[in-house]
Amino acid sequence: MKIIFLGAPGSGKGTHATRVKTELGVPHISTGDIFRENIKGGTPLGVLAKSYIDKGALVPDDVVIKIVEDRLAREDCQKGFILDGFPRTIYQAEALKKIAKIDVVINLVVDDEAIVKRVAGRRMCRCGETYNVAFLNGSDTCAKCGGKLYQRDDDKEETVKSRLDVYHKETAPLIDYYRKEGLLKDVDGSQGIEAVYADILKVLK
Ligand code: AMP
Repeated sequence: MKIIFLGAPGSGKGTHATRVKTELGVPHISTGDIFRENIKGGTPLGVLAKSYIDKGALVPDDVVIKIVEDRLAREDCQKGFILDGFPRTIYQAEALKKIAKIDVVINLVVDDEAIVKRVAGRRMCRCGETYNVAFLNGSDTCAKCGGKLYQRDDDKEETVKSRLDVYHKETAPLIDYYRKEGLLKDVDGSQGIEAVYADILKVLK
């Protein structure tokens, strides 16, 4: 199954895509994760991506499209994949159409106010776990591996607001785009995490 997770930053795309990946046994491809790995590794792609990500801006379309095209050409993607954070513009969606036939687009719907609260409170662990300060009771270590939690630079409140503006301008038009293609399924992303996941599984069945 070839799935896209659509939604604002912090709508839960990464969290749910990770679970669906385990459920379906298909790769989870997060363009944001690919950029963060490259930033960590100090690669030329990482240096370029960082200059956009730190401002809350999008990395240029052609750079992202090439990365996704190469990734989807690999053997492990032939039976299916989950795209998280791609496409983010109509231009990217048009390019994707030439590369793969998507089966379903899950649109996680969460309002802006909840997003800002969620993302500004988000804390990450290097092992991949994600937390929110609202549920950490002052702790700054990962319950899974004991690692020290940190805040993504682009999760700071001011950057979140720029990312939301970019989302509304550049990415939200994809909702109508995929609705017209008959692929869009809305899921209420403001519910508790288990309820959201149950709705996603219903859509996928
Ligand atoms: P994410 O982890 O998906 O929120 O992505 C973090 C940042 O990486 C975004 O704010 C963008 O700057 C950049 N990024 C990720 N995916 C894309 C994409 N498909 N197109 C352009 N920029 C992207």
